[in-house]
Amino acid sequence: MNRILVVGASAAGLAAAEALRREGYDGELTLVGDEPDAPYDRPPLSKQILSGEWEPHRLPLRSPADLDALGLDLRLGIGATGLDLAARTVLLGDGSRVPYDGLVVATGVRPRRLPGTGHAHVLRTLDDALALRDRLGPGRRLVIVGAGFLGAEAAAVARGLGCEVTLLEPAPVPLAHAVGEEVGRVLSGAHREHGVTLRTGVTVGEVTDGGVRLADGELVGADEVLVAIGSVPNTEWLADSGLTVDNGLVCDEYSAAAPGVYGAGDVAHWHNPLFGARMRIEHRTNAAEQGMAAARNLLRPEARKPFAPVPYFWSDQYDMKVQAFGYLRGHDEVTVVEGDLDERRFMVAYRTGDRLSGVLVVGLPPRAIRPWRAAIAARTPWAEAVRTLAPAAGVV
Ligand SMILES: Cc1cc2nc3c(=O)[nH]c(=O)nc-3n(C[C@H](O)[C@H](O)[C@H](O)COP(=O)(O)OP(=O)(O)OC[C@H]3O[C@@H](n4cnc5c(N)ncnc54)[C@H](O)[C@@H]3O)c2cc1C
Repeated sequence: MNRILVVGASAAGLAAAEALRREGYDGELTLVGDEPDAPYDRPPLSKQILSGEWEPHRLPLRSPADLDALGLDLRLGIGATGLDLAARTVLLGDGSRVPYDGLVVATGVRPRRLPGTGHAHVLRTLDDALALRDRLGPGRRLVIVGAGFLGAEAAAVARGLGCEVTLLEPAPVPLAHAVGEEVGRVLSGAHREHGVTLRTGVTVGEVTDGGVRLADGELVGADEVLVAIGSVPNTEWLADSGLTVDNGLVCDEYSAAAPGVYGAGDVAHWHNPLFGARMRIEHRTNAAEQGMAAARNLLRPEARKPFAPVPYFWSDQYDMKVQAFGYLRGHDEVTVVEGDLDERRFMVAYRTGDRLSGVLVVGLPPRAIRPWRAAIAARTPWAEAVRTLAPAAGVV
């Protein structure tokens, strides 16, 4: 293998490129990304960058010298527009073609938007974060559509900056689908306590000049609107390529989409054999881990290993640090295994079928969660996990 192309120059793409070099690949390595900036970290965008605590120079994932040392043909500010699988060639926006022996697809996701004539912010890129940050300040009315983790983090930061924040959420309990109703209620309670106007069960129809128009016709006035209603995988350039696209690039348990083609990060919809489920994970750690796994499997197909991680994410809101391991979606039961929900200092465990599938902590030290992570990785039956790790657990 002499020519490897990585499309998408962010967490997953960079991790893949670095792993290839670490594993001894010394052929041509091209990294293509449609953003103008060198790879940078996204989680701080809704935290330290939005609050103004950090300036953008802290965001790059690697120094220019470290990037140089990878010996990349780095093409930034240019997007892939097509893939010819049979000819093993990717078409770029400037009309050029890049032939490859191996390809890693790491094009991530972009924000979903709402219809309407008014201006709405989204929060995915550095430019998005800086544009929103410029418009926040004491007394500014910010309406955030979507009380998922992104909307919730932005709400917390905006309150810290003195904004009047309204958080609009269609579900009765924010985040219930992701973390369960009880935990969703506890997390959203923190927003109410910090003065956020949280309205649940409301559907937004469109963004207008003066705010957002709800489906029932009510206008919720705003100086600024942030739409945080989920994302869409960047797979248009793969249409007609012959690869299967279904809520992301469909990959097998090795993260492979076709011979010599691997997917990694937010764009990859792969089969995780640890949970026996297909999943697409939008977590920072997963992007790096899957980038590395894809690179190794691409380089050594004879020794390839399934990519079977215990997913991990964190979120910072006010003084709360939320951390979770596992796959919480579709769980059947949630149990408090340590602490107290009302004090926002707790650990809950999730059961899916007869297995321990996840664990989430708020306000507890990381060591509390480690044995649980190991139990998830070991496919521990629920009853055994609760008996051995949380003898005093009470069911929520
Ligand atoms: C504001 C914010 C806060 C977050 N906070 C957290 C957090 O607290 N915890 C957590 O676990 N995760 C968090 N995440 C998620 C985490 O940042 C992502 O999971 C991670 O960035 C995914 O990396 P990726 O490389 O797969 O995709 P991306 O970071 O989306 O990168 C994909 C890159 O490919 C480029 N691209 C797209 N199409 C093309 C094309 N056709 N040709 C070339 N390039 C293309 C994109 O422009 C982008 O640069 C957050 C994300 C955001 C936006």
